[in-house]
Amino acid sequence: MKHTGQCTKCRSYNVIKKEANSMHQQDQVILNSWGTKKIYLDNFICTDCGYSERFVQMNPKSEKLMKERLKKQGGGFDEYV
Ligand SMILES: [Zn+2]
Repeated sequence: MKHTGQCTKCRSYNVIKKEANSMHQQDQVILNSWGTKKIYLDNFICTDCGYSERFVQMNPKSEKLMKERLKKQGGGFDEYV
């Protein structure tokens, strides 16, 4: 959906991209308890079936914050890094 502009559920190409607004809480994921480390989510919405997906805005800053969080968490999923 993000890369093709096509809905992954109904195959329609009538997909809206609504970029994250840094002022809107619903477009943010806060990664630390102080609320100082945030990443932002872009929305992709199919206007035919209503299906929607959200993707983190990938940039050097958000990638760094996500990797820091992953390291802190100490979990698996290394293959996805
Ligand atoms: Zn659809």
